[in-house]
Amino acid sequence: MLKKNRLFTPGPTPLLPSAQVAMASYGAHHRTADFRTLFARVLADLKEFVGTQNEVLVLSSSGTGFMEASVSNLTSPGDKVLVLTAGKFGERWISLAEAFDCNVDVLSAPYGSTFSTEEVKKRLTPDIRCAYVQATESSTGARHDVEAIAKLVRAMPDTLLVVDAITGLGTTHFDVDGWGLDMIIGGSQKALMIPPGLAYGAISERAWQRMETTKSPRYYFDLRKERKSAAKAETAYTPATSLFAGLAAALDYVRQMGDGNLAAGRKALVDNAEMCAAMTRAGVEALGLKLFSPRAPAAALTAVAAPAGADSTAICKRFRDQFGAVVANGQAEMKGQLFRIAHIGYYDYLDTAGVLAALEQVIAEVTGKAVEFGCAVKAAQEVYKQRVASSE
Ligand SMILES: *Cc1c(COP(=O)(O)O)cnc(C)c1O
Repeated sequence: MLKKNRLFTPGPTPLLPSAQVAMASYGAHHRTADFRTLFARVLADLKEFVGTQNEVLVLSSSGTGFMEASVSNLTSPGDKVLVLTAGKFGERWISLAEAFDCNVDVLSAPYGSTFSTEEVKKRLTPDIRCAYVQATESSTGARHDVEAIAKLVRAMPDTLLVVDAITGLGTTHFDVDGWGLDMIIGGSQKALMIPPGLAYGAISERAWQRMETTKSPRYYFDLRKERKSAAKAETAYTPATSLFAGLAAALDYVRQMGDGNLAAGRKALVDNAEMCAAMTRAGVEALGLKLFSPRAPAAALTAVAAPAGADSTAICKRFRDQFGAVVANGQAEMKGQLFRIAHIGYYDYLDTAGVLAALEQVIAEVTGKAVEFGCAVKAAQEVYKQRVASSE
């Protein structure tokens, strides 16, 4: 059979056609009025997409570049920082903070779970300069309670809170300013529906003040320098210009989703991810499979434990070979134990129903056990029907 290549991965995600067209045709030089107009528009729209009054900057790098910037710009060597980790992306915070010689305190929760507010409260001491967390841990499919964590951090006058929302933005509701998030970070290849290569972040006034005194080395990711350039509608170095053209088209699309209102479009995009996630969870459970993060599942992706006796590597391979579907395996030591289906950005009802139908086939073949075809799809349809009825 014909196989369309489709991404179900938590980044990169399916590309928005109008953004692809915009990228393919964009050829302006970055020191021109044309680019400055595009750049200023993207920065203003991103503020609305993030939902903040704080300044938003964009870096030409993958998401990790902005994560690095949040460490190099906000810390000095020897600073005590607290990393909240429950997965591979949380562990990235530890490596980054160590690379910049921070004194790293770690609160970890087992893979597939999240932190209790009590534990976080106990570990937050006034000498912690920065706390780092993920909004959604893409390696396990867990969602962390950013609002509750922010409430605790805000009680500490000298502690900044940095949130890796690279898969969280566009799949999760945040009140960035109301909760007092000092830095919230996103990436272009997630809910913004364009290829990898841009990272963005919103930066609080407290964080800007911190940068006046911090001493960690930085050059390409010097946020104060980017801020100065952005004030003139420019970037400090050559930006990934075509990605900016794609980003502008993607933000227009989100605005259309909100009937001309970008904030409403962002909410619609989040609700879409929530719907696809709820349908996927119901389908997976109807097949008798177990969620890897059952207690706090993210809307960004659904991580599913490999059924007893089966290896998720074989499941992912089957998806790809038979249906052209790229489903993500577990990362590092979780490889073989789980597979991940994302519902981020340009992803809809038919994608959800299709991947569940394929999952029924794949599970039947990989486990050799009888599967009642249609059971996962049916469960998803029921969820859809109920949710649509209750929102009317
Ligand atoms: C994708 C992702 C990142 C960033 O990874 P890059 O490959 O650098 O773009 C960071 N954190 C989370 C939670 C992610 O999902």
